[in-house]
Amino acid sequence: MNPLIQVSGVWFDYQPEESPQENWALKEINLSIQAGEYISIIGPNGSGKSTLARLLNGLLLPVKGNVIIGGKKTTNEQDLWQIRRQVGMVFQNPDNQIVATTVQDDVAFGLENLGVPREEMTGRIRLALEATGLSEMEEREPHHLSGGQKQRLAIAGIIAMQPEAIVFDEATSMLDPQGREDVLQIIRELHQQGTTVIHITHSAREAFLAERIVVMAAGQIQLDLPSGELYPQSMLLKKWGLEVPLPVELHHRLLQHGWPLQREITSLEDLVNELWRFLSKD
Ligand code: ADP
Ligand code: MG
Repeated sequence: MNPLIQVSGVWFDYQPEESPQENWALKEINLSIQAGEYISIIGPNGSGKSTLARLLNGLLLPVKGNVIIGGKKTTNEQDLWQIRRQVGMVFQNPDNQIVATTVQDDVAFGLENLGVPREEMTGRIRLALEATGLSEMEEREPHHLSGGQKQRLAIAGIIAMQPEAIVFDEATSMLDPQGREDVLQIIRELHQQGTTVIHITHSAREAFLAERIVVMAAGQIQLDLPSGELYPQSMLLKKWGLEVPLPVELHHRLLQHGWPLQREITSLEDLVNELWRFLSKD
C-alpha cells in the first residue's frame, strides 16, 4: 500500500540564500508513514522536529527532496489546500490557536474556511466536541477555559476538519498533568478510530505510547524503530540528552549494582515480574 506520508531525501534551510555556510535544519530525511500509524518523534531542542512537522502539511517546502501526502507533492501549489486538509496540526501553545469568542464558533471557524455547508457543520462540531469532552461547553468563552480545555478545543477544531493525519507538536508540554492525560487519551482514541497520529514530544513516557518511535538529533533521523524494539535499548536515548523511561533506567542501575536480573526487559510489568522473581528466590 502507498504510504499516506512519504518524505524522501528532504533537506531544509531557513535562509538558503542568506547564510554563506550551509545551515541545514534538516538533512536527508527519509520517512514513510502508513495510514493509521501512531508514531512519535523525539529529539533534543533544535533537532528539527517542528521543522519536519511543518513540512508535512506544506507550511514549509523542502529545499531538496520531496514531501508527498496521499500521492500529492507539497510543492504543487494547486494541491496544498487538499494537503492542509489531510494533515492537521496541533501546536504547543493553546492560546495561539484560538480564534473565536465561543467554543462552538471556534470549531466552526476552520469549517467555514473549508466551505463546509451549514447543515453539515452542526453535526461535525457536535462530534468534535464530544471527542474532546467539551460538549457541555459550547457557549463558553475560550479565554475562560483552562489550558488543558483550550488545547482540547484546538484539537476539536482539527478533528472537525476530518483530517487523515494529525501532527501534535509538543501539544502536551504546556499543560498540567491532568490536561496532559486528557490529550493523551484523545490521541489514543483518534488512533483507535483510524486517524494517523504523529506525536512530537519531549517525554519518553509519552513517546513509548506510540507504536513506532523516530529519534531526531542534529537535523537527522538517528533511529526509527517499533517502540517495543527501542524500549529494551532505550538507554541509547541518553546519547542525545533525552530522558530514559524510569523502568529502563532502574533496571540498568540494578544490573550495574550486580543484581542478577535478566538483561532484557520490555515493559514496566516485565521489570516488576523480574524483581519479584529475584526477590522470591530465598
Ligand atoms: P525542534 O522542534 O526539534 O526544537 P526546530 O525544527 O524548531 O527544532 O529547529 C531546527 C533548527 O532550525 C534549529 O537550529 C533552529 O534554531 C532553526 N530554526 C527553527 N525555526 C527557525 C526560524 N523560523 N528561522 C530560522 N531558524 C529556525
Ligand atoms: Mg519544536
